[in-house]
Amino acid sequence: MKLFLKNHAVLIFLFLFQGGFVFFYYWFAGMQTFTHLFYILGVQLLALALYLSYKWYEEHRVYQWIGSDQKDTEIPFLGTSEFCSELYEKHMELSRLHHRKIHDMESKLEDRVTYMNQWVHQVKTPLSVINLIIQEEDEPVFKQIKKEVQQIEYGLETLLYSSRLDLFERDFKIEAVSLDELLNSLIQRYKRYFIQHRVYPNKQVPAEDAVIYSDRKWLRFSIGQVITNAVKYSSGRSERIDLTIFRKGERIILEIKDYGIGIPSQDVKRVFEPYYTGENGRRFQESTGIGLYLVKEIAEKLNHDVSIDSEEGKETTVQFSFLTKM
Ligand code: ATP
Ligand code: MG
Repeated sequence: MKLFLKNHAVLIFLFLFQGGFVFFYYWFAGMQTFTHLFYILGVQLLALALYLSYKWYEEHRVYQWIGSDQKDTEIPFLGTSEFCSELYEKHMELSRLHHRKIHDMESKLEDRVTYMNQWVHQVKTPLSVINLIIQEEDEPVFKQIKKEVQQIEYGLETLLYSSRLDLFERDFKIEAVSLDELLNSLIQRYKRYFIQHRVYPNKQVPAEDAVIYSDRKWLRFSIGQVITNAVKYSSGRSERIDLTIFRKGERIILEIKDYGIGIPSQDVKRVFEPYYTGENGRRFQESTGIGLYLVKEIAEKLNHDVSIDSEEGKETTVQFSFLTKM
C-alpha cells in the first residue's frame, strides 16, 4: 500500500494543488458563495478515489509481490490488466532466458568434469603400471619413486573431487555409514603413507557401532584429507595420531588429533579458506591449501560440522560432528 501511494503521490499532489489553486483563485476574485465550487471539488475527489481504488484492485498483487521478500524465481499470478499481463510475460521471458543460460553453463561444466575424469583415469593407468614394475624393488631410489608416484595419485584424487564439487547436487547419495568401517578402510588405504612417515593411527571407537547418515564417497575423501594432514604435519615429531569416535548429546563426533607442529594462532581461523597454507605451508613444499577448503565445502553440503583447534608446536585437533538421525 505504501509503495502504491508513493507511486501515485504526484497525481494526488497535483489534484490537491489544483483544488487549492481553484479555491484561492475564486477567493481572491471575490466570489461570495462556494457551494458550487465545493460540489465540483467533491466530485473530482470522488473521481480520484474511484480511480485509485480501481488501480489498487487491478494492481495490488504487483505491489504485494514487490513488497514481499520471496526469493523464488517463479512469479505469482499478478492480475488480468494489460499492464500486469505484460509485466508477467516480460518476467517469464527473462526467466526462461536465465534458465537456458544456467542450463548451458551446467552442461559445459559437466563436459569439463567428464573430460577431467577421463584425463585423470588416463594418467592413473601408467601410474599403476609404474607401481607394479617397482613393487618388488627395495633400493632407496625406488622407494623415492614410490613416494613421488603416491604424491601424484593423491594430487589427482584432490583434482578429481574439486572438479566434481561444482556438480555435487547430481552426484551424492545419503545412506547409513558405519564410521568404524569407514576408518578401517581409510587406514588400509593410507597404510603405505603411515609407514613412509612413521606415524601410525590409534583408533578408539565406542562399543556400539557409530552409524551416521552421509555420502560414503565424499565423506571418505574428506576424512582422508584430514588424516593425511595429521600425518604430514606430525611426521618426525610424534609417531601417533588419535582417531576417536564418541557421542556428544544428539551428535556423534569423529576426532582426528595429531601431536605435530600445530598451527600458529593467527592461521587457525583461515585454514578452511581456499589456497591458504599459512606459515606451515611455506615450510612444506607439497602444500596447496585446497584440502581443508574442500573438506569444509563438502561438510556444508552434507550437513556436517567441521572444526579445527590447534596449539602451535603441540597438537592439532579436527572434529567432524554428525547428526545421528536423517
Ligand atoms: P593439500 O591441498 O595438499 O591438502 P595443504 O595440506 O597445505 O595442501 P590444507 O589441507 O587445506 O592444505 O591445509 C591448509 C593449511 O593448514 C596447511 O597448509 C597447514 O598450514 C595447515 N594445517 C592443516 N592441518 C594441519 C595439521 N594437522 N597440523 C599443522 N598444520 C596443519
Ligand atoms: Mg592437506
